[in-house]
Amino acid sequence: MTKVLVLDTSALFGGFDVQLAEEPLYTVYEVLQEVKDEERKLKAELSIETKKLTILEPLKQSIQEIEKLAIETGDIGILSTADIKILALALDLREKGFNPKIVTDDYSIQNLAAKLGIEYQKIITVGIKEIFIWIKYCPACHKVYPMQAQIENCEVCGTKLKKKVGEKRALEE
Ligand SMILES: [Zn+2]
Repeated sequence: MTKVLVLDTSALFGGFDVQLAEEPLYTVYEVLQEVKDEERKLKAELSIETKKLTILEPLKQSIQEIEKLAIETGDIGILSTADIKILALALDLREKGFNPKIVTDDYSIQNLAAKLGIEYQKIITVGIKEIFIWIKYCPACHKVYPMQAQIENCEVCGTKLKKKVGEKRALEE
């Protein structure tokens, strides 16, 4: 099943970086309408253009199912239309054979998602990205070479070089 992320307002306009996500992203029109920040709005629009982010309208029956559940749990007064539609969209996507995960910091959405058996994740603020520096090394004499060195065998002892992660460096974005 294809993993997809469903973004609520707190995700799309909070710390979640749509450019860095590997999964296909989905949201509803109402979430976009809640945007105040121009820069984030622009980023979202760009993601829609590049088909990274897809806007879908959930089915009426899915919306009704969420509303019914929200009445039972007492979350109905807290959830906005956008919130309800995000949950309904996740239902639709699961129905279509996807494996949806809602990205949200909203407690009521998390509560209902758990009741529906839909995965959710809290927003991880992406500011630091780890990068790996690969090196070539000689397993016999342990001499280290840069990865871009155009040699296959050790210059000292002639042993075939191997590669490994030489260091892990955290990059500030
Ligand atoms: Zn060597």
